[in-house]
Amino acid sequence: MNEEILSFIWRFQYFEMSGLQTDEGQLLSVVRPGLKNANAGPDFSGSRVTIAGVNWAGSVEIHTKSSDWFQHLHESDNAYETVILHVVWENDKPVYRKDGSLLPTLTLKGLVHLSVIERYNKLIGETDEIPCSKSFDQVSKIHKLAMLDRSLLDRLYRKGSLVIDLLNENNQDWEETSYQWLTQHFGFKLNDPAFLRLSQILPLKTILKHRDNLLQVEALLFGCAGLIPEIKPDLEITEESAYPRELRREFQFLAAKYQLSQMQHHEWKLMRLRPAGFPTIRLAQLAVLISKSNGLFSTFTGTKDVSQLHQLLNLHQSEYWQTHFLFGKKSKTKVPFMGKDASNLLIINAAVPLLVAYSKQRQQPELLDKAMKWLSEIHAENNQITRKWEVLGMKVKTAADSQALIERYNGYCTQKQCLKCSVGMSLIRSR
Ligand code: SF4
Repeated sequence: MNEEILSFIWRFQYFEMSGLQTDEGQLLSVVRPGLKNANAGPDFSGSRVTIAGVNWAGSVEIHTKSSDWFQHLHESDNAYETVILHVVWENDKPVYRKDGSLLPTLTLKGLVHLSVIERYNKLIGETDEIPCSKSFDQVSKIHKLAMLDRSLLDRLYRKGSLVIDLLNENNQDWEETSYQWLTQHFGFKLNDPAFLRLSQILPLKTILKHRDNLLQVEALLFGCAGLIPEIKPDLEITEESAYPRELRREFQFLAAKYQLSQMQHHEWKLMRLRPAGFPTIRLAQLAVLISKSNGLFSTFTGTKDVSQLHQLLNLHQSEYWQTHFLFGKKSKTKVPFMGKDASNLLIINAAVPLLVAYSKQRQQPELLDKAMKWLSEIHAENNQITRKWEVLGMKVKTAADSQALIERYNGYCTQKQCLKCSVGMSLIRSR
């Protein structure tokens, strides 16, 4: 027995209610179990019970053993003075309030419908990666849809709060924050940390002063990234060495002017990548985006529909990077421009959370609706996690579906948080 299942039993009142008495022998009826409290303090608030004909309103605290009250030091915490009923599995020690009166206790052991505990133990004991897999087809569509809706909101708010954290670090500067957030996602997971660091040592304000000159924007990005190779001054100028030489010359001038620092080459991950995915190619595409956009923040939040975003992210890197994937390394075939899959990922992981964060900060729910609409217009991601859900019969059509299911899998299923999931609750409650 654990507090989580006890809370669930109390919340849905899965115990014998007729002739209910406190452990002290007083008649007890539950008018309202209360709302589960996600913050510090007693487990349920807004509870109402009648004990020996007297109505009580306050909080309910749940413990496996009544002595846990002392283990958790509630006796010295004023927040627990509001507790009107102590609900336990086992009453091994009486609890007294500060005024010396006995805190009424309800022991659930012997009262609980055993089938609920059996179903819970069975579900939690499953070793499948998605523990409810074997029973998933018994779950109604409505519970599955509720799970999807909840998961999508969880994911959007969680990612939105990461943007807000970055915004706070940037003193509420939305432009700088958008640039850092977007740049980070040009790392396409593998190089996210390196791209984020680059954006933090190279301020957007500095790049924008050179926005009209793509070569200078590239020099700033590649230079601060520490990726421009050293070129011996006496080396003959060839077609191959002209571009890196030019970049280095520009960067040396700009670095001295703005006192810029440089990253180390080893901070970049260059293994197991296709030419189009090399960070050098992504940097060249980012340079084009910064050069052509009229403010990243307004561009991304002001865009009306996904097709406009795709147009914006249809980025053609400069000539050198159409034939090279690293400095001095020629590609056998032409290096492609940014494709639809990559731009979809940027919309899902960068543009949508930005919009959600702005919606939250400005209290504009219509922006959240817009973010969700964007997701519903993009094809679902196809990865190991989405495929597991498809095996269970889930239709994973749009990015809204895939994002929700990835969140549920990572945040709930693998953590066995089934009691907080509408699918898990319906399975445990089903009779
Ligand atoms: S969290 Fe929900 S969907 Fe995931 S395994 Fe548990 S019951 Fe199933």
